[in-house]
Amino acid sequence: MESSLTSQPVPFSQTAFRECLGRAERLLLMLDYDGTLAPFVADRDQAFPYEGVLPRLRALQAASPCRLVVVTGRTVSDMPRLLSLDPLPEIWGCHGWERRLLDGRTSSPALPAGWRAALDQAAAVSDFDLPPDRVERKPFTVAVHWRGLDENLVRRCEPLVRQNFEVLAAASGLELHDFDGGLELRCPGRTKGTVVTELLAEEADALPLYLGDDLTDEDAFAALGDGGVGILVRGQVRASAARWWLRPPEQLYECLDLLVEWCHGREIDA
Ligand SMILES: [Mg+2]
Repeated sequence: MESSLTSQPVPFSQTAFRECLGRAERLLLMLDYDGTLAPFVADRDQAFPYEGVLPRLRALQAASPCRLVVVTGRTVSDMPRLLSLDPLPEIWGCHGWERRLLDGRTSSPALPAGWRAALDQAAAVSDFDLPPDRVERKPFTVAVHWRGLDENLVRRCEPLVRQNFEVLAAASGLELHDFDGGLELRCPGRTKGTVVTELLAEEADALPLYLGDDLTDEDAFAALGDGGVGILVRGQVRASAARWWLRPPEQLYECLDLLVEWCHGREIDA
């Protein structure tokens, strides 16, 4: 995905965003979690949302013309502790391999034995002097996290882990992906883009919006097509398939406030 990106999103404009919302009947609001709703921290178990995010999400959850969906690389079971929303919104975890519906039912496909064995082997990279908490074995992926680690340790371990993952990927058919702050070996066939495609099929009449920060979100931005709105949420702009770029958290609040405002307007009209 990364190499095919040539254009930069334009800075977020409240006026243009309002105009875009003006044509919508319903919203399908898809949100990445880490780096988008929550700032990065060295301890990923402590990655809670920016303080102004939850009240705005609660307002959007309560609004009938908006379907709120979280799309994350984390496993679904991570989310209730981090995202204190009651009820929890619909969540797609592990890059689309897990789905938790609004009523709490969770589904995921069976993991082929060959992929399971390769993931187990990948999780053993902690042999390379990496602290065990830096190697995260998720149901459909293994992620190694560098953030906050000693730079010398990262310099030593990164090539070893990458080489090890490349060998496992070649032998098993798993895929290797870089993300902001780490490296991940994943089961192939599903991405945040396939999630967007499936949700679009369920919500043909809604305006789809996707907010994300990382390379894994590029599949989602691309899957939106011309009719959707991708918003890159990031301290600094980069090449992306997103239409707009905004800086969290202040501009993220502005964006969510406009969505809340739009929902209230729709409910009054109705
Ligand atoms: Mg992210």
